[in-house]
Amino acid sequence: MITKIHDKYYDLSKFNHPGGIEALSTCFDRDGTILFESHHPLVNKTKLNYYLKKYEINDGTKRAFNKTTTFIFDSKFAIELKTEVANYFKSIKGKKSLIESTKENKFRQIQTFFFLIGIFFCYYITLFSKNIWLCMFIEPIISWISGVNIFHDASHYSISIYPIINNILSHLVGCLFSQPYDWKHQHIIGHHMETNVINKDPDLYHGNIISPVTISFFIWFTAVIILITEHAVILWIKNKYNDIVNRQKISNIELFLYIFSKFIYLYIYIIRPFQKFPLITAISNVIVSRSLFSFLFMLNTQIGHLHDINFSKENNECWYRHQITVTSNFATNSYFHYIFSGGLNFQIEHHLFPNINHCHLPNLKHIVKRLCVKHDIEYNEFDGYFDAVKSHFNSLKILNKKINTVNLK
Ligand SMILES: [Zn+2]
Repeated sequence: MITKIHDKYYDLSKFNHPGGIEALSTCFDRDGTILFESHHPLVNKTKLNYYLKKYEINDGTKRAFNKTTTFIFDSKFAIELKTEVANYFKSIKGKKSLIESTKENKFRQIQTFFFLIGIFFCYYITLFSKNIWLCMFIEPIISWISGVNIFHDASHYSISIYPIINNILSHLVGCLFSQPYDWKHQHIIGHHMETNVINKDPDLYHGNIISPVTISFFIWFTAVIILITEHAVILWIKNKYNDIVNRQKISNIELFLYIFSKFIYLYIYIIRPFQKFPLITAISNVIVSRSLFSFLFMLNTQIGHLHDINFSKENNECWYRHQITVTSNFATNSYFHYIFSGGLNFQIEHHLFPNINHCHLPNLKHIVKRLCVKHDIEYNEFDGYFDAVKSHFNSLKILNKKINTVNLK
């Protein structure tokens, strides 16, 4: 339970972190500087350092953690951005604490309740419905929309200030996307820490084994199965997620939930169709429903980062500036797309403030865009899905060349 933050070592085994042990554990046995900074943008630095100081150790220098990209978090732009965002939350917080005001607001809580009903409806369909059209087409669409709206925020600890609520929700929905433990390595640690950094961001290498190129259209129909199976197996065999992110220790409860979740997925999506339908119908059900879910996942995730414009300016020293240049927003003027993508269309704001609930991101966009103009930072956004998807596929060749230039292994 040792971490390294700004070149100092800390033993956090006795620290009762307000965000819960799951959030704290992301930085165990690794350089946690980026995680620490990106998850406390609005917390007073003096207060943070006061707590950290209590857990500082001197024998940590012998620990050789994997090197992470060196970023700065207090550039002029970063300070201005964090101050304006903090001021925004001060203006809306009412009687809540500043951190509480960054989580789900009342309206969003009602929406989450309905998405949760959507998830249970999907579990019901997979288990009991013998209507093939419902199982093959409707279920993946409802489970995608309900799932992404709950799981992504829950996995970022941004639904509630109470860790147990985020945990329960992410475990209820997590099996659809992989599993909260796998996801923590791939998304929370790997992808968000060093987004689009060659050899560091596991999202650049999802097609490594089955495809000669790293990212391709074929992956759009298989990605979620790859996340759930291949990447999980490699995580346990090699102790590294996608050959990049070192595996965290797992508690007994987490291990139980992990195995249980994989079993549930296997049963409801792979075994159950064969108990409900004749062979050919069952095979069609499995292939079409899983491919469709994977397609929806990729449609809403790939267009957030994988454009040639997102690789044009590397080596940004400021982490906030880096996150803006490697990310693209899409279809932010449409409420339908906001719901359909689970707020992933405000990808820039999400990457700047990963543990702020996505219900606040449309308001933060105005602040971010204004400051980007002031500080001469390119803010990439596409009007709709069509433009974004077109740009993504037009960029594939050049991206694969860039990404595969350095041999991952
Ligand atoms: Zn995220």
